[in-house]
Amino acid sequence: MKKPFLTKDQAESIAASYPTPFHIYDEKGIRENARRVKEAFSWNPGFKEYFAVKATPTPGILKVLKEEGCGVDCSSLTELMMSEKCGFSGSDIMFSSNETPPEEYELAHRLGAVINLDDITHINFLKDTIGEIPETISCRLNPGGVFQLSSSEEGFQVMDSPQDAKYGFTKDQLYEGFRKLKELGAKHFGIHSFLASNTISNDYYPVLASILFRFAVDVQKKTGCHIEFINLSGGVGVPYRPDQPGNDIMAIGQGVRRQYEEILVPAGMGDVKIFTEMGRFMLAPYGALVTRAVHEKHIYKEYIGVDACAADLMRPAMYGAYHHITVLGKEDALGDHIYDVVGGLCENNDKFAVDRLLPGISKGDLLYIHDTGAHGHAMGYQYNGKLRHAELLLQTDGSVRMLRRAETPEDYFATIIWE
Ligand SMILES: *Cc1c(COP(=O)(O)O)cnc(C)c1O
Repeated sequence: MKKPFLTKDQAESIAASYPTPFHIYDEKGIRENARRVKEAFSWNPGFKEYFAVKATPTPGILKVLKEEGCGVDCSSLTELMMSEKCGFSGSDIMFSSNETPPEEYELAHRLGAVINLDDITHINFLKDTIGEIPETISCRLNPGGVFQLSSSEEGFQVMDSPQDAKYGFTKDQLYEGFRKLKELGAKHFGIHSFLASNTISNDYYPVLASILFRFAVDVQKKTGCHIEFINLSGGVGVPYRPDQPGNDIMAIGQGVRRQYEEILVPAGMGDVKIFTEMGRFMLAPYGALVTRAVHEKHIYKEYIGVDACAADLMRPAMYGAYHHITVLGKEDALGDHIYDVVGGLCENNDKFAVDRLLPGISKGDLLYIHDTGAHGHAMGYQYNGKLRHAELLLQTDGSVRMLRRAETPEDYFATIIWE
């Protein structure tokens, strides 16, 4: 059972000040989860979570995470600028970009961010751009092949194809790259890798860690480079469907610890810091899209038209992603109607739900679309002239604060040159 963090009465009273649709985040949930993450890795004194800004590039959220001790993982100029404005600097910022323009390396360097290179050719590019190689530098590994975690009956629990991904150095390039970076003055090295997205498995991080730890031992031996940190990046998933089990972050932390003690400690590398760059796991369950049913249509199927559309939440249209829907005030009602819940884009994939069993919906009902806290508002766009909607924070004390206002037509027209 998925439970909204808002009641109908709460949502109606919020909607009286901030018209639907809106994204709303749960400060209490965000903080409690961030504390669990910290506790799960507290066995590693250097541990740090660098929140992946792209998941929720909203200063009000970044500041909450900062208070909980998180850094930020940026991948573009504006994400760096936003992070600087939020008070992040130096080693609180990880810069993991690809196809990077020079001005982004310049800003990352000026902020003192830890730069995570995506390709061997970027060594010279970085040096030519900023005039030196920073003392601390990281490289992204792409081990190639296919990455699989199997579970007993259901076949593969996690499957992804690093060999088809555009990111990272090959292993051989990474040995060569580290030697070169060392010659150019780098002193402290990090290894980063991202092998699979939205994993629902307590084994993903431990298996990734075992691959990176073994590789790190090898790299340190072969190149003499001091490995200071290993960055497990993102990819820890959340259960979007009500019947999926969630990840247990404590078990994940302990699983990584076992690999650390088995592989790194005996190699004399018990000082390596563990970093993560989770986006989804930090935020997805603590955000919701609240939208109102505005039309009801019966043709070959039953449709409920809502005032939000795919421009507010692209995941269902883009990936066929499932987002659970609760009709507020009808939490306990029987799901005895089959609906497509649709937005108003002139695109037939603008459907938040297809053939979904829900309680009977009346015009005016508020629908709570779950788990939109990460890669939700962030992936918004303005197709069909749809404007992007407000982001609100349900604060720990129960009050609501607006983090970003809704766009107006003036915002939409602001970049146009009319003649
Ligand atoms: C997207 C991304 C993340 C975050 O991924 P999640 O699946 O949201 O955890 C972390 N690191 C990098 C480099 C990314 O591109």
